[in-house]
Amino acid sequence: MSKITNRQARPQRNSRRRALVLVLVQLALLAHIAHWLLTGSSIAPLEPSEAISFARSKVVTPGLIVLCVAVLSTLFVGRFFCGWACHLLAVQDGCAWLLRRLKIRTRPLRSRVLRLVPILAFVWMFLVPLYSRISSGGSHTLTTEWVTSAFWKTFPGPVVSIITFLVAGCYVVYLLGNKAYCNYACPYGAILGASDSFSVGRIVVDDSKCNSCMVCTQVCSSNVIVHQEIKEFGAVVDSNCMKTLDCVANCPTQALSFQLSKPAIMRRAGPPPVSTLHPLTWSEELVLALGFCFGFFATHDLFGAVPFLLALGFGLVSAHGALQFKRKKVSWAQSKINFVAVVFASSFFLHAALVQSQALMRDYHFNQTFDLRMGYLRGEVSLPLKPESMQAFLDAAFFASTTEWISYAGQERNAYVHGWTHLMSGDSEGFEREMYEVLDRRPDFGEVMFQLGIHYWVSGKEPQAIEILQKIDHSDPKYLTAQEYIEKINSHALEHQH
Ligand code: SF4
Ligand code: SF4
Repeated sequence: MSKITNRQARPQRNSRRRALVLVLVQLALLAHIAHWLLTGSSIAPLEPSEAISFARSKVVTPGLIVLCVAVLSTLFVGRFFCGWACHLLAVQDGCAWLLRRLKIRTRPLRSRVLRLVPILAFVWMFLVPLYSRISSGGSHTLTTEWVTSAFWKTFPGPVVSIITFLVAGCYVVYLLGNKAYCNYACPYGAILGASDSFSVGRIVVDDSKCNSCMVCTQVCSSNVIVHQEIKEFGAVVDSNCMKTLDCVANCPTQALSFQLSKPAIMRRAGPPPVSTLHPLTWSEELVLALGFCFGFFATHDLFGAVPFLLALGFGLVSAHGALQFKRKKVSWAQSKINFVAVVFASSFFLHAALVQSQALMRDYHFNQTFDLRMGYLRGEVSLPLKPESMQAFLDAAFFASTTEWISYAGQERNAYVHGWTHLMSGDSEGFEREMYEVLDRRPDFGEVMFQLGIHYWVSGKEPQAIEILQKIDHSDPKYLTAQEYIEKINSHALEHQH
């Protein structure tokens, strides 16, 4: 048996320590979920994505606090939060470890264009809703939600969650290298990466000890070109450095250390240095960008089920496939497994794009009917509509049917469109049937309950109206008027009795 030397022991100790911290953090999160399952309510999720409630409706949640703490700590010591606490990073590291054990080599993709994706994702996820809330001039008051019984309301179901971890945490790592999701998709990575540029916590080099052996670059699971950066800047300046400290622990001459030092922003002017390792040409970058956009838009909200973060993962898979085609690497003769995988993935994306195009047409026509629908709910439109007014409903229903047909699955949005088309053509029962189908799939869908309640009231079915309106979550500011309607219906009924 070979003896473990002191130098071999250090890196192992560091990896084990980080793995242990990651496991403990994940266990704490599982304990949190278990507490909610056992007691029916718990502290609201600590997931940074919950900060979206603040952007949309000025609600302060524990998730917002976690995001703020992560940003502030990163501003000071760098991205330790990413490297030592994130669950998606833990899955990526676990997958990379498994691939190494299986002796499957992955080569990191070093794209300049894909690095823009996290920034755009952050803008789309947080800044756009924040801007639209502020610019709409809505009368949102600052509220808090520390404890919740609806713990899972903003998260996808178990199947989609597992697919998200498999695609973003495993498949993307297999295709694009470890931490590819962090570097090329994660919206939190954008804000944490930007904060890292100002941080004084840095991996710095002692030039007199460095012999340019490149071990630091080889061990970096964040694909940072460590040896190049320390040579040029005296420290790691790449904002993708997640302070795993693997380079520090593995450096054979102990030339690297983590210290408080000049921030990256003061060490380099302009964008991060372009990698000299496996650089991509601009035409390859363009193909990656197009492939990403295709995969993302083809899958985002597909079947009303693919969440934003998973669609970003699909975008990366599609980008990789596009690059494979460009490099003419898709051939049965070269690799049968690769060929089958690419054909399967291409079929999936093409089918998804077809479904999305039909859904887009459905929504386009259905949006034209907004005034008529609202007019009906205000009691200003009498039914059935004249044929010329029905046209947009019929077009929307046609595309709802084709969407359903080619996706081999019912969707709540399709049932919703069919329901309104029934109603406007005078089939009130058809409307109620389709709306209940929507509620079967999404029992807490306030908008549908609200519209169904008003429809019952307009049709003189007051008990049913009250029953459905009472089921709405009245704490949701969007449906405050539901309570007013209940009171209105009750007083109307009393007047009739007198
Ligand atoms: S591993 Fe250490 S000695 Fe080798 S290039 Fe990196 S810093 Fe220099
Ligand atoms: S540069 Fe060093 S500390 Fe930063 S991610 Fe890479 S190995 Fe970890």
